Amino acid sequence: MSKVKSSETVKVVIRCRPLNRKEEAAAAGVTRTPGGVGGIVEMDMRLGQVVLWNPHGPPGEPRKTFTFDSVYDPSSKQRDLYDETVRPLIDSVLDGFNGTIFAYGQTGTGKTYTMQGVWLEPERRGVIPNAFEHVFTQISRSSADRQYLVRASYLEIYREEIRDLLDPNMHAPHVPNVHTHTHHTLELRESPESGVYVRDLTSCVCKSVKEIQELMNLGNQVRSVGATDMNEHSSRSHTLFLITVECSLPGPDGRQHIRVGRLNLVDLAGSERQAKTGVHGERLKEAAKINLSLSALGNVISALADGRSGHVPYRDSKLTRLLQDSLGGNAKTVMVATLGPAPQHYEETLTTLRYANRAKNIQNQPRVNEDPKDALLREFQKEIAWLRAQLSHREGRGKHRKEEGEEGWDGEGDEEVEKERTLQEGRLEEEKEAIREDGSLLAEEKQRLLGEKERMMGDLKKEWDATEQLTAKYKAMESKLLVGGKNIMDHTNEQQKTLEIRRQEIAEQSRREREIQQQVMVQDEETLELKETFSSLQQEVEAKTKKLKKLYAKLQCVKAEIQDVNDEHVRSRQELEQTQNQLTRELKFKFLIIENFIPLEEKNKIMNRLTFDPEEDQWKFTPLVPAERSGQFSQMKKRPASAVGYKRPISQYARVSLAMGAHSRYRAENIMFLELDMTHPTTVSLDHRPSEVGPNYSPYPTDNVPHRERAARVRMSRSWCQTPRAITSSTSTVSLATHSTATPTAAQ
Ligand code: ADP
Ligand code: MG
Repeated sequence: MSKVKSSETVKVVIRCRPLNRKEEAAAAGVTRTPGGVGGIVEMDMRLGQVVLWNPHGPPGEPRKTFTFDSVYDPSSKQRDLYDETVRPLIDSVLDGFNGTIFAYGQTGTGKTYTMQGVWLEPERRGVIPNAFEHVFTQISRSSADRQYLVRASYLEIYREEIRDLLDPNMHAPHVPNVHTHTHHTLELRESPESGVYVRDLTSCVCKSVKEIQELMNLGNQVRSVGATDMNEHSSRSHTLFLITVECSLPGPDGRQHIRVGRLNLVDLAGSERQAKTGVHGERLKEAAKINLSLSALGNVISALADGRSGHVPYRDSKLTRLLQDSLGGNAKTVMVATLGPAPQHYEETLTTLRYANRAKNIQNQPRVNEDPKDALLREFQKEIAWLRAQLSHREGRGKHRKEEGEEGWDGEGDEEVEKERTLQEGRLEEEKEAIREDGSLLAEEKQRLLGEKERMMGDLKKEWDATEQLTAKYKAMESKLLVGGKNIMDHTNEQQKTLEIRRQEIAEQSRREREIQQQVMVQDEETLELKETFSSLQQEVEAKTKKLKKLYAKLQCVKAEIQDVNDEHVRSRQELEQTQNQLTRELKFKFLIIENFIPLEEKNKIMNRLTFDPEEDQWKFTPLVPAERSGQFSQMKKRPASAVGYKRPISQYARVSLAMGAHSRYRAENIMFLELDMTHPTTVSLDHRPSEVGPNYSPYPTDNVPHRERAARVRMSRSWCQTPRAITSSTSTVSLATHSTATPTAAQ
């Protein structure tokens, strides 16, 4: 099995949604729109080109043309995109490659439509449901010597926090209308084996399309429950559905090998600029965080596409770290950039196209992940083998009826097991009966033998129960593994398969055609000059003028492009400066407080204990006592030993005097208990009649008010040193030793 190791670019496709009703109504009056009715986007599906027309520009302004791997115009179907672009990727995942599909674009341009679509209508199902179907169908069609294990995880990144959408704690039954879900945020980790991963992320084994769909629904419910404003939330959070397919198959060396393919299905947050105007303090930080992942993604793409800069800022955000392998690493990646055709979104559409255009140049190095150490399938197989061995061992012990030559436990039917059980129980019962009937035995002897039989029956029962448990476990484990070669060969299935293959061939064909067309176009431009021979000077002038004009137009395009990019650069710089100014102001405020209100000594102590944790991008307190050693010995200073058993240290002299006979001088100075007195409060309802108010009027009826004893409130103290209390193990040590993770705002 050769490991395929080659380089390929990120595939970028563009999809344009139809105008919606509102946009159509708005466009009704406009006449000069080349991109269909009212649209500013023109698409050539055959060539893979997008032409963008500037609705605000002067009439003669050249249009902007971009070329991509493929483009899908508003009339395109979900199936078209899937068959042509996604299907090959999913097939690669089943072969053990990593694959990623992410949808990028402004809010409302069809990212979620493309990724999820309308679940209930087969025609309008998006990439995710189709991929589910695809994965499980392919597994059922694969050869019988393959075993599969499919797992799924679902997470969301919102404000730079990773939330597990399948966390079982989230799905615990809860009181409706009380959304007290506290989202547990997860951390990212990196291992040389599996790259960047999310620690403690729930991952569920799925056995069918239905199961994996249910998982997705479950996750979506948590999303909508957790968010106060779902629309806002969904346009600002990134969701990632991760499917891991492990496949064990026999290699040429006769041994079983495991291949692991990971598929990331990513629906990104809306790419539009978040307006930051009028945002202060906490809100500002929040706003900055919302788009951090997307701007970091842009920087990563730029750095990778540029190819010159050595440093790729993956670590700048959670999203880019999670997609590290998908961008410039070990994965096959498809980016679907979505557009809206309406004139009012010209700027955003252009930005999306530029972004997508840059991503085309990213080189990935996908390879088959073979026999990774952390394959779960391997563990499952081991566990199953162990259970099987246990069961066959028990079987060997429990009964001897099996013929020789049959070895191992074969997962026989339940009825047979049950029959065997009743048979053995019956035999014991018979033996007991025989003992009872036997007149030659003494009563005592009888009792003993019967007891023995009882015990045997008890043992037998235990044994059977244990076997039953093992069998159940074995079956549960085995049912999780999917074996190829099942449920094929019925006629419709066969036809469907042929149909799919045909469709795939057609998609492949059109893709190749497009590639060739694109190449021809490029070559044409280059070789035009070489091929031309001119019969007359006049002709030559004409041809060259034509060419000049063409090149001039091109030059204008490039110039406009440079101007645009410059403008954008200036704009984003201004925005950044503004943000920076506000943050600086905030920092100054914090400094002012620290410098003026926190004692220097305390400040130094705090500063000395702070360390920066780059994993979590946070400042943390180092514990006073290293956590792992605090159990063995403590580096904490102990309280002076002189105070053992007393509230405070007392001198040797005082102690001796005390022992000699309590001299009043050495008795405690605290002669009062100042604890709260627990007598009942006296409450009386006021019956306040003004006419009765005389000089000696008191609102309280004087006769039945219980007067509190003065002595009850101030009780004489026992001397503190007469009853030494046992010292509780110093609580302060414990609380100080616990690892504090509080983030001091001052340090930020
Ligand atoms: P996003 O996730 O990018 O914010 P949505 O997927 O929610 O956008 O799409 C916004 C609206 O546009 C939805 O009502 C969706 O049904 C519709 N829509 C998007 N793309 C298409 C398409 N290709 N064909 C038909 N309707 C679409
Ligand atoms: Mg969406």
